[in-house]
Amino acid sequence: MICNICPRNCGAERNENDGSGFCEMPNSPVLSRASKHIWEEPCIAGENGAGAVFFSGCTLKCCFCQNYEISHLNNGKRITVSRLAEIFRELEKNGCSCIDLVNPTHFSDCILSALQIYRPSVPLVYNSSGYDSVDTLKRFDGIVDVYLPDIKYYASSVSLKYAACPDYFEKASAALLEMKRQTGECEFKNGIMIKGLLVRHLVLPSNISDSKKILLWIKNNLGENTYVSLMSQYTPFAGAKNHKEINRRLFTAEYDKILNYFFEIGLKNGFMQSKTSANTYFIPKFDNFGV
Ligand code: SF4
Repeated sequence: MICNICPRNCGAERNENDGSGFCEMPNSPVLSRASKHIWEEPCIAGENGAGAVFFSGCTLKCCFCQNYEISHLNNGKRITVSRLAEIFRELEKNGCSCIDLVNPTHFSDCILSALQIYRPSVPLVYNSSGYDSVDTLKRFDGIVDVYLPDIKYYASSVSLKYAACPDYFEKASAALLEMKRQTGECEFKNGIMIKGLLVRHLVLPSNISDSKKILLWIKNNLGENTYVSLMSQYTPFAGAKNHKEINRRLFTAEYDKILNYFFEIGLKNGFMQSKTSANTYFIPKFDNFGV
């Protein structure tokens, strides 16, 4: 296939074994783990844990990524679409509260094909970097129950510096509006989000004004009732050492400023993290478990 699935629009050749695009992935699914994951937001993980399917490769490759092993080094196992469908079935059978597709963007075709083989009855969660194309998202209309995108950067200069992606906000903001259009207002059942949009934002050290602009955009464009997960877990991994200003943990005062701003501008629904979540203990092992 010639791939233009995500906003990178590589037009690259992807076959069963190899891919020459930015994500470096073939067109068969590559996974690094499929297991219960209890560290998602409470309305996603529930009491039983989310059925997290970790896809390898990435269309964004932020320099500080905590999942560097799979997003940059591409560790993982190549499987068939039928096996992916079986994995959905196994996670559901294990009592997982949802099927949590982690970084699914570049495997959209495979996921849609797998869902034709087996559609789980638990909510289907699309957990992406936000760097999604609207055309690709439209193919998930009526299929995805919950969108769980990041919104990472506002300024082009920031997304260029950390992810070689100057159009991040332009594309991600359009993607989030499409996600909202598809799902409408959030619905919950027994504390689990069964339909809706939950937006994540990881607060970066030294980038407080970027975070504020993002929150204001959310309020003005997605509405004051938008569910937002404000994450403080930033830990300087991998290429963060090349950028002095982010080569440290987030200060409590920085997170508090963003937290205060969240309420000051009238946002109402938030998930907040304690600073103890900035710990590698919460990063799953990418050892092909469950794959
Ligand atoms: S999914 Fe991969 S190959 Fe396709 S356009 Fe995006 S980065 Fe390029």
